[in-house]
Amino acid sequence: MKNFAYARAADLASAIGFLSGLNTKPLGGGTNLIDLMRENIEQPDALVDITRLPLSGIEEQPGGGLRIGALVRNSHLAAHPLVRDRYPVLSEAILNGASAQLRNMATTGGNLMQRTRCYYFYDTASRCNKRQPGAGCDALEGLNRIHAILGASEACIATHPSDMCVALAALDAVVQVTGKKGTRAIPVVDFHRLPGDTPQLDTNLQADELITAVDLPALPFAQTSLYRKARDRASYAFALVSVAAALQVENGSISNVRLALGGVAHKPWRATLAEQHLIGQPPTEQTFRRAADAELAPARPYQGNSFKIDLAKRMIVSVLTELSGAAQ
Ligand code: SF4
Repeated sequence: MKNFAYARAADLASAIGFLSGLNTKPLGGGTNLIDLMRENIEQPDALVDITRLPLSGIEEQPGGGLRIGALVRNSHLAAHPLVRDRYPVLSEAILNGASAQLRNMATTGGNLMQRTRCYYFYDTASRCNKRQPGAGCDALEGLNRIHAILGASEACIATHPSDMCVALAALDAVVQVTGKKGTRAIPVVDFHRLPGDTPQLDTNLQADELITAVDLPALPFAQTSLYRKARDRASYAFALVSVAAALQVENGSISNVRLALGGVAHKPWRATLAEQHLIGQPPTEQTFRRAADAELAPARPYQGNSFKIDLAKRMIVSVLTELSGAAQ
């Protein structure tokens, strides 16, 4: 591990000041960053410890939304009564991720910033454009069972590893950030990037910016929501495919729906094509199949992951069928 400087931020302004320095990373729970530093994949010159900043609250917003501080631990967020009641999909998604010990350490902001678990990204003997731009991508012709089927590029076919972020994408969450130039709000669907020809960039966060909170809008029908995850073993494994969904049915037709997929793309994948095929339609298996087919039509598999296309379609149909029973 490379030597690095360490400083503890006393307030938000000093944290931003440290981040404006050369190659400095914020340290929250450290559950992904420290692993990456140990493997010499992340090599910051300095860490700024932000754990003493007052960003650990969950506050109700006027109108019924929630503001989640960036330092709220994953376990606390999953167990919060307002989250469990109003956004069960978020609670379920978090509880499907990692282990209890990791959820006790991992923060909301850190979960948004975690990096892909592509095997070749972690193996410094392999070619990886994300780790070393221009090096090539060993996953293209290698083991790519866990890799993307949507939105990938020839430069990178990695997937985003988070469960929480899939639920946030379905819930229209907004990421609040502060940097040298002030504050800005980034819809979570625009926070993470597709790889294109710059796979080294996972997000649209600037180097001097810090996530301060995640806002959940009021979404009453999200009380009827759920998260399902298919993975290679029962716990402590990343998604092969996951589905986050919320559904409202009125007078025999779908009046509101939110659908997002995990394990299929470089970012949490908001299934807008499927949503368009669902709105105004009767909540039948035929409707759900048509929507799933539309969403997966642009999918491009690689030699090891073609199963994901059918798996994603089946999971979408299954989740929407289950939700439609509860939504009527
Ligand atoms: Fe690297 Fe992306 Fe290729 Fe994996 S898929 S080896 S992260 S460039």
